[in-house]
Amino acid sequence: MKKVFILLLVALVGINITQAQTLDLSKYHKALIIGAHPDDPESMCGGTMILLREAGCDVVSVYLTRGERGIEGKSLDETATIRTEEALKACALMDVRPVFLTQVDGESEINKARYAEMKALIEREKPDLVITHWPIDSHRDHRNCSVLVYDAWRQTGHSFDLFYGEVMTGLQTQNFTPTVFVNIDSTRERKIAAYLSHVSQGVDKEVKRFHDTMETMRGLDFQCRYAEAFVQQRWGD
Ligand SMILES: [Zn+2]
Repeated sequence: MKKVFILLLVALVGINITQAQTLDLSKYHKALIIGAHPDDPESMCGGTMILLREAGCDVVSVYLTRGERGIEGKSLDETATIRTEEALKACALMDVRPVFLTQVDGESEINKARYAEMKALIEREKPDLVITHWPIDSHRDHRNCSVLVYDAWRQTGHSFDLFYGEVMTGLQTQNFTPTVFVNIDSTRERKIAAYLSHVSQGVDKEVKRFHDTMETMRGLDFQCRYAEAFVQQRWGD
């Protein structure tokens, strides 16, 4: 009877370990973090981006758009200029390289040309790790970004490990149950500093409303103070 109890306990502990895995950052050489708007990569996984850099990984922050519709009362061009500057500042603080694709905020498309654009980015950069939006999200640009990256993953023969992350869970990311975690205790302060570069977006309020809660909640899941959380795309045929 005792033996059965111990076996049951081992089985249960085993299940927990399987459910909460850490992302092994040391095995990657080139990471692309692909977000729909300036501030999305930083918000989703800025702490992980800095840890990857510290581990010697080449990290690229990719913006599908320049956030052209993100400032009320300003033209698309004026807003793009302001938000590009903010993204450049955030990237400098994280020591990562920015890349801007050519879609427009609020009118992102999924079509043959856009699939080709994302695939060309992957073929040019040759990442072994890509992190992008979880595909179920209230923001259409986030959903489109995720689908384009997933398609490029398939079209390049699963040429990189693909992970999905969260942004403003509850309001934007929905139905997200992560199984892979990164302890960001040592980089969280720099992550928030980089995120706060996006002054035009009122991100200081979002730190309080979303980041303090989300990163603490994921930290509780992963037994540290702050964590970022992901779901890995499984290989399909
Ligand atoms: Zn966004």
